[in-house]
Order: sequence, then structure tokens, then C-alpha cells
Amino acid sequence: MKRRHFLATLGTLPAGTVLVAAQPPPQLRRLSTDVLVIGGGTAGTIAAIQAGRLGAKTMLVEAGSQLGGTTTTGGVDFPGLFHAWGKQVIAGIGWELVKAAVDLGSAELPDFTKPTGRQHWRHQVRITGNLYAALAEEACVKAGVQLRYYESPLTVEAAGDSWRVRLTGKGTSIEVVTKQLIDCTGNASVVGLAGIERLREKIRQPGTLIYRLGGYDLATIDMNAMQAKLVAARKSGVLKPTDINGTIAGFLGKGGESGNHIPGADSSTSEAHTATNILGREALLRVLRFLKQELPFALMTIERLQPEAGIRETFRIIGETQITHEDYTSGRVFEDAVAHSFYPIDLHYEGGVTPKHLNEGIVPTIPLRALIPKASKNLLVAGRCLSSDQLANSALRVQASCMAMGQAAGVTAALAARTGTTPLRVPLADIRRELTRHGAIVPKKA
Ligand SMILES: Cc1cc2nc3c(=O)[nH]c(=O)nc-3n(C[C@H](O)[C@H](O)[C@H](O)COP(=O)(O)OP(=O)(O)OC[C@H]3O[C@@H](n4cnc5c(N)ncnc54)[C@H](O)[C@@H]3O)c2cc1C
Repeated sequence: MKRRHFLATLGTLPAGTVLVAAQPPPQLRRLSTDVLVIGGGTAGTIAAIQAGRLGAKTMLVEAGSQLGGTTTTGGVDFPGLFHAWGKQVIAGIGWELVKAAVDLGSAELPDFTKPTGRQHWRHQVRITGNLYAALAEEACVKAGVQLRYYESPLTVEAAGDSWRVRLTGKGTSIEVVTKQLIDCTGNASVVGLAGIERLREKIRQPGTLIYRLGGYDLATIDMNAMQAKLVAARKSGVLKPTDINGTIAGFLGKGGESGNHIPGADSSTSEAHTATNILGREALLRVLRFLKQELPFALMTIERLQPEAGIRETFRIIGETQITHEDYTSGRVFEDAVAHSFYPIDLHYEGGVTPKHLNEGIVPTIPLRALIPKASKNLLVAGRCLSSDQLANSALRVQASCMAMGQAAGVTAALAARTGTTPLRVPLADIRRELTRHGAIVPKKA
């Protein structure tokens, strides 16, 4: 803009408006804390609330705009499983928030006394994701947790007995020195940044963009004819095979919810997550255009559409202990068990999933050592990136288990910070006592 023109515009600024000089790069600010949790998702939110409730100075950094991660932004707003074989096996802070979301959202808890047989999803709890996020946020604030949305770590370095973490966000540049660090990114990103090796499968499970379609009447649809059209559309390339999993009747019966797969889905970098979101939305548009040209779908509506794709699997840590498929399916009670987990082995592949249910009475456990990267100090993880083989992980990754891990990591980090030690050295009895005092269920010895 020419200087004369620029000055002329000054005179026309409305009252109350000020002209601001070009924004300088943000000044580095230095902060310190006892416990720094990176990733405010399913596990991280609970870890931060727990550490805060134990009196630790706690900071929670979340790259997105709300808490809950895959539970809320990813749209998997049906957490489970808290109950096994007729009794509750996971409770604590996660359960407290889920129940609060049910109450305030006028939803209903399933009848946990009724066995589900192979339909394990009947014991998952339907909640409103964004309401859960608001309740989780309120609980963080009440617990004194400092929330930092829109920020991510740039570097993670050991600094004596602490960690120095450089965060970057919108107009912020922060260096945090923390006594204890908890990686709840789902991708073990912090562990990676700290220079510690991680595991990743060559073929990983696909992701899913969660949406729900409405505005059509199943009774008016000729399913045989629609199925033939689906087959033809897949053959001609109008639809990719993973756009609509299974049959058209199954897909439409659920409003298309969780009815697609995104091969190669990845959230471990912004670029990979961007590409995955684009693939998911492209698939949705193909499905909408395919259905809309048919009469029964002329008035079809989109009842929900999540802002990002849900990711099932990226990196896992190499922990002090690795939970194997055999450990999980045999219900091994680890010596340092801090939580239960309960879910079928649920490995998705491009074409679908066939859950393998646990034998009657089996309730697997999660050892503290599976949350501690091997040979690390003052570092924990919680959530789907815990130390486990791929099959065990396909069950351990579910939300109630992630919440339970988050609570165990939060207790351990807070106690380690308080006593100036590292997570492996915190007496198990102290961890279990605090978990129980805060409503969690600790596995009993076999
Ligand atoms: C499609 C789908 C269906 C599923 N179905 C079920 C089901 O039926 N029942 C069930 O219980 N579970 C189900 N799961 C599994 C479960 O939802 C997830 O495994 C679990 O929620 C993961 O929790 P988490 O805490 O590890 O990660 P997330 O909840 O994903 O949280 C990670 C958080 O970290 C943040 N983050 C990541 N990187 C950074 C960074 N660098 N800086 C700052 N923040 C960062 C993210 O924004 C996010 O908020 C499903 C998952 C998917 C994808």
C-alpha cells in the first residue's frame, strides 16, 4: 500500500479501532511444572485430572481445540468396556466423567447385568462427545490443571533430572521445565522426540471417518437392487471397496456410522493426519454422490460428520514390559498390574474386522511397566501407544482401558514428582492406594 494512501486510511479508522504494527515473532517464555501431559485425548485428560487432584502442578498440552481426542473429536463417543462378566472392572475418573455426560446429556447407561454374548458393543456407553469434552475441561480446571490448547512440542530434551520441552502454538513459544512427562499423544510422539526408539507395524489398521446419514426410510429401499448397484459402483471405480464396508443393508442400517475404512491412516505427523482427513472426506463425498442419485436418498441428510478421521494404530513404545497376545487372552495378572482392560481382540484390516472374544471369566490386566519406555527416566505413556504387541494392542487401545491407564500414569507421575524419584521407583503400594482412593479399581493378585 502506498504511504499516502495508508495515511489516508488512518483518518478513516472507526472510533475504537487501533492500528497494530506487524506482529513480531513470539518471545520465548519459560515456565516450570511438576507434571506435563502432552495430548489431551482419552487417556491424557484423565492423567492430567488425576495428577492435579493429587496436588501436583500440572500442565496439559493439546494440539486441538477441545479435550477427549478420539472419544470426542474423532467421534468414537461410545467408550467401553467398563464391565466384564457381570461386574465393573474399570471405574475412577474416566467412569466419573462418562456418567456425568450420561446424566447431563439425558442419555442412558446400558444394563450391565445383561450378558452381551458376542455383541460386546451393547455394554459401550453412548455419550455426546462435545459434552464429554466440556465436562472433562471443567474437571481439569477444578483440579488446577493449566490447559494449553493449540500447542505442540517442538523439542524434548533431558535436563538433569527434569525434561525441557519447547512448545509452539498460535503466537506462543514456550519452554517448559517439568519433573515428570506423560506422553498421551496416541502416537508416542513425545517418546520419539526424546530420541527413544518406537515400534510400528508395516501393515497397520485402517482409520475411519465417523459420520451418520439420515433422511431415508429403510422400508422403502429395494436392498437387492441397491446391493447390485454397490457392486457395480465398486467395479467401475465410482466407489472404492473401503468406502462402504460390507453390505449396503448393513451400512444403511447404521446410517453409515463407522462403515468405512481409510487404508494407511496415520496421525503421527500433521502432514499424515491432513492426508488421512482428506482421504476420509473424499470417500464420504463419493458415497453421498453415489446414494443421492437414487430416489430413496433424494432427501438424505448428514446427521453428524466428525472434523477429523479416527486413527486406530500408529506407533507403540518399547516398554519395560510388553503385553503380549498370550498375556491378554490368558488374563495374566501382572505383578505390577495397575488397571484392568477388557475387550475382544479387535484387529481391523482393510476389508473389515472379526472380533475374537475372550474366554468366559478372563479379565486382562495392565502392568505399570508397559507404560514406561525402556531405560527411560521421569517419562510415562498412557493410551493406545502403550507397550504391547499388535494383537494385544487391538484390545488394549479401547477407551475405558486408555482412561484407566491415564489415571495410573497420573498417580505415578504425581507421586514421583512429589518424592523426587522416577516412576519405576515409586512404591507400587502407594500407587495402588492413591488409585483406590480416587475411585479406580486395582486388579487383585491371582
Ligand atoms: C474408528 C475407531 C473406532 C473405535 N471403536 C472403539 C469402540 O467401539 N470402543 C472403544 O472403547 N474404543 C474404540 N476405539 C479406540 C479408541 O477410541 C482409541 O484407541 C482411544 O480413544 C485412543 O486414546 P488415546 O488417549 O491413546 O489417544 P487419543 O484419544 O487419540 O488422544 C490423543 C490426543 O493427543 C493429541 N495430540 C496428538 N499429538 C499431539 C502433539 N504432538 N501435541 C499435542 N497434542 C497432540 C490429539 O489431538 C489427541 O487429542 C476406536 C477407534 C477408532 C479410530
